Amino acid sequence: MNILVTGGAGFIGSNFVKYMLNTHDVNIVNLDDLTYAGNLKNLEDIENHKSYNFIKGDICDRSLLEQIFSQYKVDQVVNFAAESHVDRSIENPEIFLQTNVLGTQALLDISKKHWKINPEDKYCKEYKQGVKFLQVSTDEVYGSLGKEGLFTEETNLRPNSPYSASKTSADLLVRSYNKTYGMPVNITRCSNNYGPYQFPEKLIPLMINNCLNDKELPVYGDGMQIRDWLHVKDHCTAIDTVLSKGLDGEVYNIGGNNEKANIEIIKLIIETLGKSENLIKYVKDRPGHDRRYAIDNTKITNELGWEPSYTFEQGIKETIEWYLNNSEWIKDIVNGDYVKYYSSMY
Ligand code: NAD
Repeated sequence: MNILVTGGAGFIGSNFVKYMLNTHDVNIVNLDDLTYAGNLKNLEDIENHKSYNFIKGDICDRSLLEQIFSQYKVDQVVNFAAESHVDRSIENPEIFLQTNVLGTQALLDISKKHWKINPEDKYCKEYKQGVKFLQVSTDEVYGSLGKEGLFTEETNLRPNSPYSASKTSADLLVRSYNKTYGMPVNITRCSNNYGPYQFPEKLIPLMINNCLNDKELPVYGDGMQIRDWLHVKDHCTAIDTVLSKGLDGEVYNIGGNNEKANIEIIKLIIETLGKSENLIKYVKDRPGHDRRYAIDNTKITNELGWEPSYTFEQGIKETIEWYLNNSEWIKDIVNGDYVKYYSSMY
């Protein structure tokens, strides 16, 4: 099996590439444009693996995609490549549409062309066996929940940020390539991930890094926004499960059954690192900030037999230890550009 992983130098993608190479006999081509969020250091331990190739490039570059599909005989695509940070999408939505929507469409088009049994037939609905396009999406496409209830795959799509609107648009395109052209696709919608190699603009690594450096911990609004935390390794096993068992055209929600308020997590990190809650600084809330996300896992659990293996207590402990043991990795990231970004935000 030849798998094209896009965005494989980012947080989740790099964990996925390593997980697949360590557990399956597959060839992986990692296409990543190495934006501020892409980091080849995430992949140092497998960079010389015989079944792994890295290509630096943009998913919007159709001629590069053509070349990759022809050279590597791609059977499956797992599309992680995206602009992924909500705050950045509020400042500059355009690049989010470029990568998340048009990039996904370019990948769909080239996949369609290379996978059709009869490439001359524009609307051919027969595809080679074993091919699949898996779109890695987010629960943010569903918008925000009140105090009760969970997102199911049937929940209406109501994105509230330019980021989630771009991911929703991509999901709809992926769906349309299945309905119109019969293309074999799955969409996975997961909750907030945490674990090793996450860029320190996101809540958990940001708070760990600031705590370690005795810097203020900026908390949006009252800090009572609730997220359903999923360990990245559980996310990898879920994607693997959907790749091998997911039914054609289906959407699967993936969650960790770990609802936590942001402030609860921040206080846990402070306590674990032996710091003071005086570091907490409440700042103006993010515009359009979703209040609560929570995932109903029933479909993937009952139909495909996947379950998360991490409790939040175990996962956060390991994650904090990982950041403590990998201070060089984080120091390399927190460079000039990051400092500029950080000071413009808080
Ligand atoms: P990330 O920002 O850490 O990584 C994104 C990667 O995509 C980077 O390596 C970057 O260089 C690459 N990239 C960006 N634009 C590109 C382009 N035009 N061409 C090629 N590569 C490009 O993101 P992540 O947290 O690993 O998220 C991966 C996917 O999972 C995204 O699609 C995101 O929407 C989705 N997701 C993430 C979370 C989460 O909690 N992190 C939750 C739900 C869904």
